[in-house]
Amino acid sequence: METEKIKCLIIGSGPAGYTAAIYTSRANLSPVLYEGMQPGGQLTITTEIENFPGYPEGVTGFDMMEDLKKQAVKFGADVRRGVATACDFSKKPYKVTIDSEKEIEAETVIISTGATAKYLGLPDEHKYAGKGVSACATCDGFFYRKKTVAIVGGGDSACEEALYLAGLANKVYMIIRKNCLRASQIMQDRVMKHPKIEILFNTNTLGLYGDEFLEGAHLVKFKGDVQEEKFDLPVDGFFLAIGHRPNSAVFEKYLEIDANGYIKTQWGTTKTAIPGIFAAGDVADPNYRQAITAAGTGCIAAIEVERYLNSIE
Ligand SMILES: Cc1cc2nc3c(=O)[nH]c(=O)nc-3n(C[C@H](O)[C@H](O)[C@H](O)COP(=O)(O)OP(=O)(O)OC[C@H]3O[C@@H](n4cnc5c(N)ncnc54)[C@H](O)[C@@H]3O)c2cc1C
Repeated sequence: METEKIKCLIIGSGPAGYTAAIYTSRANLSPVLYEGMQPGGQLTITTEIENFPGYPEGVTGFDMMEDLKKQAVKFGADVRRGVATACDFSKKPYKVTIDSEKEIEAETVIISTGATAKYLGLPDEHKYAGKGVSACATCDGFFYRKKTVAIVGGGDSACEEALYLAGLANKVYMIIRKNCLRASQIMQDRVMKHPKIEILFNTNTLGLYGDEFLEGAHLVKFKGDVQEEKFDLPVDGFFLAIGHRPNSAVFEKYLEIDANGYIKTQWGTTKTAIPGIFAAGDVADPNYRQAITAAGTGCIAAIEVERYLNSIE
């Protein structure tokens, strides 16, 4: 297998990866960045970004990621097509296999492979993506001010997102498959007491409807029971809050991973348990998952790479 030796390998081309690439290239570390199967990351599947500092008029996710890429390339980052398919972090130099055909031997690795939001698997979810369907209330809630929205999910984050949406929308329906919420008691109490939130227990989503934009959801109550009842719920926004799948599987043999698949890092840093291996962005962030926090930890990872390399020289 072809082998290449480098100082700094960055895996993933979202805001975390490109920010790490900008910083490490400006620090003369000649970083190599592999884009993965989604060049530009999650933001390339959304429309308008209004909450990334520096874009007062907003920016499309695609344009913003192109800008980040240009900035990284301008300072010398070597941005390449390719997916990390295996790794060996058992000893230095750390080895990462790209597309099962090339091996990179790196002194340091920044893992910034992101996390993928879980969807219900309805065929219409992707049809209305950015046109009424969203997997990020913090990102898209603002577009539904004074409107009616539904949110699927009954855990703590779903309750948190429902409360966030209730601060913007006129009405929030929570669609819950079971007859109870999974969330902690305190979160349950908060959503149940909220005047704008109505919880639809024992309810499943069958599909979505609307012409160009989402107009509502086809729902069923008591699915499969004698009292089964199908009905339509008109909504302007349909939010998924059923969890995320961090893209950490390739690294899980060597790194500490939490119960939900997030790479564990030392508090306040991007350091993993292995010196020289860092994790930045959504893949190591069960809490915030925003472009700016991903970019921030990409910067931290780059500075930590530089300090680590200085410390071993
Ligand atoms: C629909 C939607 C709308 C959003 N809107 C906003 C918003 O308005 N504002 C905001 O701040 N945030 C928003 N977010 C959240 C934001 O997109 C994420 O927080 C951010 O993109 C995380 O950045 P990241 O760099 O960690 O990873 P990602 O953007 O997820 O990028 C991960 C990268 O890793 C690559 N990768 C994965 N596995 C491998 C592998 N094995 N080998 C090589 N590469 C790999 C992928 O190809 C991708 O390039 C939105 C998210 C979604 C889904």
